[in-house]
This record gives sequence, structure tokens and C-alpha cells, in this order.
Amino acid sequence: MPTELELVADEARTCTRCGLAAGRTQVVFGRGDPDADLMFIGEGPGQQEDEQGLPFVGRSGQLLDRLLLEETGLHRDQVRVVNVVMCRPPGNRDPLPEEIEACSPYLARQVELTKPKVIVTLGNFASRRVLRTKDGITKLRGRTHPHPSGAAVVPTFHPAAILRGGAEPMAQMRADLVRAKLVLERGVPT
Ligand code: URA
Repeated sequence: MPTELELVADEARTCTRCGLAAGRTQVVFGRGDPDADLMFIGEGPGQQEDEQGLPFVGRSGQLLDRLLLEETGLHRDQVRVVNVVMCRPPGNRDPLPEEIEACSPYLARQVELTKPKVIVTLGNFASRRVLRTKDGITKLRGRTHPHPSGAAVVPTFHPAAILRGGAEPMAQMRADLVRAKLVLERGVPT
């Protein structure tokens, strides 16, 4: 018997709700533990993700995996990783508001079915979508925010920004991952 999450993934595989369907190689649904306590939400698939059908497998993903292990001791298979849009925007452009909106039921269902205790949002697009705000990541990060699901949201930088950005954002992202770990362990926002 397929799980509910597998059924949603099957439905997404043939999705044509927005224009991104025309340019994708495949839908990039999610990866990792379907029952994880910790969920990461990114922006959208890049070229390698589109080719392999898995989120965060390129350079950003490798950095995320490394920082995750170093700061929380968790392996990539122990967490859940998803994106706000599940198809690659052409040329890696930013996802459009209508594309994010069209994909939002798939994101919402994934959060609902995985029931994470902590959601780490990576960058502006995920943080704004999940927290329903227009504020940017620099303002949002550094603390936890409540989510209607009961999860604590820990906004942090997108790993692609860290790859471009140097030591300071990297140190801040490390601190955010430690914060996520503390909330997981203690069950209270820090
Ligand atoms: N960047 C994202 O936001 N998501 C991916 O899956 C890969 C890179």
C-alpha cells in the first residue's frame, strides 16, 4: 500500500498547474525521512536537481549536508528536504508568485504529512512563503517563529548565498542550525 505522501508525490509527478511544467525534466518532490522532526524548505530545483529528481543534490546541497552534519550531527537521510516550487524555473530564475501559489498545496501537504517539529526555511522565498511575510531573511533570522502546524520555524540563509557570501553569513547559518537543534532537543524556542 502506498503511503499518503507517496500518493501526493504521484499526483505531483504529472502536475501542470503552472508554466514550469513545460520546461522541467521531472518534478522534484522531496527527499529524506518522510517522518523527520526537522524539515528544510528551499527555493526551487536547479539543473542538477531537475536531472536527478531530488532536491539539493548540487553544490548548495553539498554545503547544506556538511553544515547539517557539523552543527547538528544529523545526516541528510535523517531530515526531510523540500522546495517551495517543485519544478525548475528556466535558467534558475526566481520563482514567480503565481508559481509559488500553484505549488503551495504540495508544500502544505508535505508539511502536514511529515509533521516536523522544526522547519528551517532557506532564504527569502521559503521564509516569506512559510511565514506569510514580506520581510527579508536578514530581518527574520536569528530567532524562531511560530507556524500554524505547531512547528517552530527557524529562518536562515540559502546555502547558495553562503557560497557567494563569505564568512559572516556562514557563521550565522551555523548558529541558526544550532538553534534548530536546541529546539528539537528541548522542544522550546530559543
Ligand atoms: N536550491 C534550492 O533552493 N533547492 C534545490 O533543490 C537546489 C538548490
